[in-house]
This record gives sequence, structure tokens and C-alpha cells, in this order.
Amino acid sequence: MADTPRPAPVPDAVTAPFWEGCAQGELRVQECRACRFRWLPGSVVCPHCWSDAVTWVASAGEGTVVTFAVYHRSYHPAFQPLVPYVVAVVELAEGPRLVSNVVGVAPERVRVGMPVRVEFQSAGDIALPVFRPVGEGD
Ligand SMILES: [Zn+2]
Repeated sequence: MADTPRPAPVPDAVTAPFWEGCAQGELRVQECRACRFRWLPGSVVCPHCWSDAVTWVASAGEGTVVTFAVYHRSYHPAFQPLVPYVVAVVELAEGPRLVSNVVGVAPERVRVGMPVRVEFQSAGDIALPVFRPVGEGD
């Protein structure tokens, strides 16, 4: 059976800098030039003060698992080979949170508060940010 391509995000004018960063191995977050609030996903105005003076800055790519779920069932054929896999909310050291995967560790070893570091996986033309435990991986 042929591999089913993994569905990938489609960058738009707002999110293109994020995906360009991922392609270069750099996780980026948006920052407000007016109030310095940082967030993800990208938007055209600051969600804190509504300023449109927003820019992208590099994240160190380190964070912690805030919450997670272990998927034991695939809802798309491309994910079937990955079962069981971990979908997690990761809070970056800079503050923003994103939904991603925790990889490189048995799902039963993932914990809330686990320190993780970003790495990138290819999904077609896109590099997806995923997270690997720091010092606790396999
Ligand atoms: Zn702001």
C-alpha cells in the first residue's frame, strides 16, 4: 500500500514567516513592538493590545509540556503508522503555547511539566515543529 501523504498546513501571508523559519530550523513567535507580548499562532494584530506593529522573533525552541493526549487511533490514514502518538500543548520559554507532537519517547513516559526542545519533521514541502524531551528521551 502506498504511503498516504501527511496533511500539511498551507502558509498564508500572515503565517509564511513562521513556516519559513521552520524550513530553516528556527522556531519563530510573533512579538508586539508596542507592548512586547509574544504569541502563536501568527495574527495581524497583537492579541494583547491590538497594535498592528507585530513582528516575528526567534524562539530558543525550549519549553515544557502543559497538557497532552495519547492517540491510540488514527483519524487519517497518514497517521496510522504513528499510532500511538502524543499530541501536546507546549509552552515555550518565551511564553507562547502551541499544539504539537512529543516524539522520541514512549507515550507512557510523557508527563505534564516535561522539558522539551523543538526539532523539525518534513511533511511534504513543510517542516513541522515537534518536540523531544530534554534529557529524558529514549
Ligand atoms: Zn501588544
